[in-house]
Amino acid sequence: MASVAVYPGSFDPVTNGHIDIIERSAKVFDKVVVAVLHNRNKVPLFSVEERVAMLEASISYIPNTEVDSFNGLLIDYIRAKNAKTIVRGLRAVSDFEYEMQAASINRKLDPDIETFFMMTNNQYSYLSSSIVKEVAKYEANVQDLVPSVVQKAIREKYSHLSE
Ligand code: ADP
Repeated sequence: MASVAVYPGSFDPVTNGHIDIIERSAKVFDKVVVAVLHNRNKVPLFSVEERVAMLEASISYIPNTEVDSFNGLLIDYIRAKNAKTIVRGLRAVSDFEYEMQAASINRKLDPDIETFFMMTNNQYSYLSSSIVKEVAKYEANVQDLVPSVVQKAIREKYSHLSE
């Protein structure tokens, strides 16, 4: 049976840190579904459709990946996708507490679904979507932090906002 993993997140926007996790997990699983979460608790910079489109453009070179979006409970989505694994990335200690809680509740909800953690590549340990937005807001260069499609989109987004 093919192993399917889901890598869920806000991806607002996707960064090179996310891409690194996607590339590496695509070597471990037969298929990786990158799933953009409709999160009502956060006001996003990019719409779900924009985030999906940027991800698709950025990972089209990795054949065993797919980009999707979902609402509601992650575990329900994982089951609907016939997946058995959740992929999450870990950066600093600050990620650990939240991730530990999320993995524990997900295990309680469905013990057959495993959370698989991948340690950040050292060069991206400081990188987050929020830091990229913060830097881009002041028109600084985000060239080495995000795929080129994101670089362009973020520049356009902030130029509209400042009009
Ligand atoms: P969420 O809002 O679900 O945390 P994010 O888009 O911020 O969504 O992150 C999705 C996942 O990618 C999380 O597991 C996060 O820890 C991981 N991640 C984000 N940035 C990096 C990075 N630079 N290196 C490794 N993992 C990362």
